[in-house]
Amino acid sequence: MELLRPSSLAELDGGVPIAGGTELVPLLRDGLVEAETLVDVREIVPRGISEGRIGAGTTLAELEVDPQVPHALREACASAASPQLRSMGTIGGNLLQATRCWYWRMRFPCYLHGGERCHAREGIHREHAIFANDRCASAHPSDPAAALLALDARIRTDRRELAVAELYRLPTDDDRDLTTLEPEELILELELPKPEASTYLKAMDRRKWAFPLVGVAAARFPEGVRLGLAGVAPIPWALDSAKALEGASPLPGTEYKLEIARALIRRALDAVG
Ligand SMILES: Cc1cc2nc3c(=O)[nH]c(=O)nc-3n(C[C@H](O)[C@H](O)[C@H](O)COP(=O)(O)OP(=O)(O)OC[C@H]3O[C@@H](n4cnc5c(N)ncnc54)[C@H](O)[C@@H]3O)c2cc1C
Ligand code: SF4
Repeated sequence: MELLRPSSLAELDGGVPIAGGTELVPLLRDGLVEAETLVDVREIVPRGISEGRIGAGTTLAELEVDPQVPHALREACASAASPQLRSMGTIGGNLLQATRCWYWRMRFPCYLHGGERCHAREGIHREHAIFANDRCASAHPSDPAAALLALDARIRTDRRELAVAELYRLPTDDDRDLTTLEPEELILELELPKPEASTYLKAMDRRKWAFPLVGVAAARFPEGVRLGLAGVAPIPWALDSAKALEGASPLPGTEYKLEIARALIRRALDAVG
């Protein structure tokens, strides 16, 4: 495998981007991603925080301690993974992490891998989705993505600008991707409006170092409160209110998530009150 280290965008010439490598290296090791060329993007993707702008190469550890960063994002970063992973893992890589569904990770020929069946729907699915789970029932694992959804963040890539919500898509028969990013498109920067208040609450199996069973971000703006959820759908999931939980379609093993989501939304709304 070839590793390139370009020092400017102009030098980019194909290959799979790698930043901290905390997600990509295990995927390569397990044969879930194949690459002849890796491109270390740390010299070309901005890193750092300046008022409402965050370089996509900023690590979760840097975000969780910076007072310029809204609470919801700081709390989401602080509750993700372990300190070691947070000091290597970048926000750009976090938004693009693959599903933790063990059937997918064990390379079952499931819907997301291009097959016809969702093995989790029929099998073990305690950690899986309660929304949009008819084809693929995976639950999006990113805490920061839920926070950025609530914060109404925008993303700048080397080709376009888009809302965080537009980065994600549900898989279809024609296209099983969960993001709208084009091959080799690079996330460069995030832009965040300033909320009046925001928070992120997370239910997990352990108090530390666990993916979200349910994560709820709330951000209050003059126009109202925005909610973003992790762990409830194959992509980060926006909700208008707790009432919208009535539209969920939990699987037998994920009904408990509804109760958790209801409680966390109530607490998050109280917190940004
Ligand atoms: C054990 C473990 C526990 C974890 N727990 C949590 C958790 O609780 N909550 C949570 O939210 N996350 C969790 N994570 C995920 C972790 O936060 C991510 O692995 C990390 O943030 C990824 O960043 P990275 O820079 O290492 O990405 P990389 O591994 O370098 O890349 C990840 C993906 O993003 C692509 N990529 C990277 N940067 C860019 C860019 N700028 N533009 C375009 N593509 C890019 C890569 O090609 C690759 O597909 C966990 C990970 C592990 C391994
Ligand atoms: S939940 Fe998605 S990733 Fe998991 S088995 Fe079903 S189709 Fe595959």
